[in-house]
Amino acid sequence: MELARTPSELDALSAFESVSYGFDRAADILQLPDYERAILKRPFRELFVELPIKMDNGEWRVFNGYRVQHDNTRGPCKGGLRYHPSVSPDEVRALAALMTWKTALVDIPFGGAKGGIACEPQQMSSDERQRLTRAFVRAIGDIIGPSQDIPAPDMNTNAQTMAWIMDEYSATHGYSPAVVTGKPLHLLGSAGREDATGRGVALLTRAACETLGIAIKGARIAIQGFGNVGSHAARLLHESGARIIAVGDATGDIFNAQGIDIPALLVHHNKHQSVQGFGGAPSLQGALLETPCDILIPAALGGVIDSLIAARLQTSLVVEAANAPVTAGGARVLEERGIPTLPDILANAGGVVVSYFEWTQNLTEFRWKEARVHLELEETLHTAFNTVIQAAKTHETDWRTAAYVLAIDRVAQAARLRWMS
Ligand code: NAD
Repeated sequence: MELARTPSELDALSAFESVSYGFDRAADILQLPDYERAILKRPFRELFVELPIKMDNGEWRVFNGYRVQHDNTRGPCKGGLRYHPSVSPDEVRALAALMTWKTALVDIPFGGAKGGIACEPQQMSSDERQRLTRAFVRAIGDIIGPSQDIPAPDMNTNAQTMAWIMDEYSATHGYSPAVVTGKPLHLLGSAGREDATGRGVALLTRAACETLGIAIKGARIAIQGFGNVGSHAARLLHESGARIIAVGDATGDIFNAQGIDIPALLVHHNKHQSVQGFGGAPSLQGALLETPCDILIPAALGGVIDSLIAARLQTSLVVEAANAPVTAGGARVLEERGIPTLPDILANAGGVVVSYFEWTQNLTEFRWKEARVHLELEETLHTAFNTVIQAAKTHETDWRTAAYVLAIDRVAQAARLRWMS
């Protein structure tokens, strides 16, 4: 029934429907009964709050905030906090579900959650963002905590935002560094958290290339997004000898067939907060996603590769560094075209893995050296990658479905042991 839908019908699914579609494909393989699907698919708790904030000019504005807890069977909920005008209940629900499957796939002891506030953070002062963040913590304070739900940074939130959350929560619950991850290093953050997601993207890209017989040295890579994830992935893949031929951000795209000098681009980007105007690569003529390359890494927004764009991609591998960059329709077309896709719940899991290390360090009041963080991250992600490749062979399916099969099976087994029997 699900597979009878056309790619354009699948493109039209909402973000949460799209994740649920992926869930159902895997649940069919696992032959999950309907009642288990109903329990595992939807979030168990959603809290929507109104946040009245006095702006710097003395006017009051009311913002909408959301925290969605999808599943806590395998441990406390874990998931980022996003500040963006497009934040909606459906988007937060979808991202919360992805967190459940991501933490289960990489086998760390967390469930899944996500939060967001619909706002335009670039148009707010730091003081306004701080008041908004503290109001949000007061509003959701009863349902977060080191053993309940642990937020982290996502789009437009950062280590400073996490420091405010820790401070506000600690004011009413006692000193609680483990209530958030992605904190500044001076406030019990972890070494290696800053570049963890990009590092994971780079190491999994190398692993996928090895599996597919693509030589990473000289491989042509196009990357959409040069923020936290995209810039670190670009740096580390450049260090591995790949040629980053195209890079794009919200200001535009640049291209150099010989490979962009990424260290120089990082210096330019730090100064101008944009890839535009970089001397070593002119503006790209045409669409970055459709640039001929060996590896395409969408590392910015969700939903950018729909079925029409998927039909025009000229790449041998897609690595989903962003959350849900490929629509369900796009995924269907990529499958039909035989273009392998490293799914988001694996490709960008490096961040939550090191968040787990940060939480562990906070609870044990012990600090790890960066080398240990890198080593444990590498081991965790390689184990997950190898398990996905094996499951794809066993079930004769694509990597995304194999990843969902593994993740859902782990959560279902834990739920049956705890209470779902
Ligand atoms: P970020 O805010 O640091 O960077 C986002 C980048 O995307 C910027 O370069 C921005 O200019 C670019 N961008 C925005 N709109 C664009 C557009 N229309 N076209 C092209 N580029 C555009 O965010 P980030 O932390 O790097 O996150 C990027 C993605 O990775 C998001 O989907 C996020 O949910 C996901 N992710 C992030 C982490 C993490 O640890 N930061 C972990 C897992 C997943």
